[in-house]
Amino acid sequence: MVEKVIIIGSGPAAWAAAIYTARAQLQPFVIEGAMTAENQAAGTLPMGQLSLTTEVENYPGFPFGDLETYLASSVDQSRLLALPPHKKEGVSGPELVELMRQQAINFGTRTLPEDVVNLDVTAKPFRLSVSDGVTYEAQSIIVATGAKANYLGLESENRFKNRGVSACAVCDGALPRFRNKNLIVVGGGDSAIEEADYLTKFAQKVYLVHRRDQLRASKIMARRAMEHEKIEILWNRTLTEVLGDDQSGVTGAVLKSTVGENDLRLDVTGVFLGIGHTPNTAFLKGKLDLTDKGYIVRPVPFRCHTSVAGIFTAGDVADDYYRQAITAAGTGCMAALDAERYLAALE
Ligand code: NAP
Repeated sequence: MVEKVIIIGSGPAAWAAAIYTARAQLQPFVIEGAMTAENQAAGTLPMGQLSLTTEVENYPGFPFGDLETYLASSVDQSRLLALPPHKKEGVSGPELVELMRQQAINFGTRTLPEDVVNLDVTAKPFRLSVSDGVTYEAQSIIVATGAKANYLGLESENRFKNRGVSACAVCDGALPRFRNKNLIVVGGGDSAIEEADYLTKFAQKVYLVHRRDQLRASKIMARRAMEHEKIEILWNRTLTEVLGDDQSGVTGAVLKSTVGENDLRLDVTGVFLGIGHTPNTAFLKGKLDLTDKGYIVRPVPFRCHTSVAGIFTAGDVADDYYRQAITAAGTGCMAALDAERYLAALE
């Protein structure tokens, strides 16, 4: 059987594409990724980066309120029970993406919990091999495999993820544990400065920790950081340990000097990583045009086409700039409409 459209990924871009293609009677088939230890270690588990966040307060349509009854009536109980505990006021990232998945399934989307391991873009129909050894064929493909935030790889950093360690200030910065507290942002590029700047809305003080004596960020962003009264730049330092305990989460950090000065120990309740993202495109090398940082190139402005006709893309895998759940979902819709038009033209 040749599928009309196969969607690869399971974050907001993938589910939005599935909802739209399902409603267009294209019977989408979503290869949503495998729940394996390897994917856990690599930070590429199914359900995308939303599933790694806590409260989501900036996705329109989910104001503060008790969603418990709604969730229980919309999503399969066994999947809800597998989600991390949440205080049930407003929506959490894992709940939100679970709702998106359910909405896509309600319109007839089929799903497969496997990884795509090979993709033949020269064949028509396209051929995709997945991790259980089966090969599928599709007239069109939407790649929505997302990106993963880079972490330093410290054991202590991993221990306190979601309890003070985060790689997304916009997602987590307004949480009570960061309000009127001292925080750290690691990195010297535009992302780190944007994170630091955003966090100043809530924090008492933000330390920007950079490993060199010069920022990589654009001049305007660098000036913004240097002139901000709540931001202090700690030059020539790297984070070597996140301090904390099981009850309080993060309580401090140890910063090593890269130029031979003494270690610095700071009392902070939050550590944000702003050291870049890596798109999940390893399986696409040599198949689609990628940028030098590995993001999928979209050659047509404001469209979701890729360098191969019939293959479309959506979400963070092709976006190193906005990286929000709402923008990912928006491009998922766009890619679905692009695929629908492509298939209509084929007929
Ligand atoms: P980036 O420009 O690659 O900067 C990454 C930063 O993290 C660098 O300062 C780097 O230090 C540091 N870093 C990397 N690995 C590290 C490690 N292991 N330990 C300590 N520090 C580490 O990435 P980005 O800031 O995410 O920006 C990506 C792209 O998006 C850029 O083109 C940027 O201009 C764009 N962007 C633009 C905006 C905006 O205009 N508002 C906002 C966000 C992003 P070194 O400098 O020493 O290498």
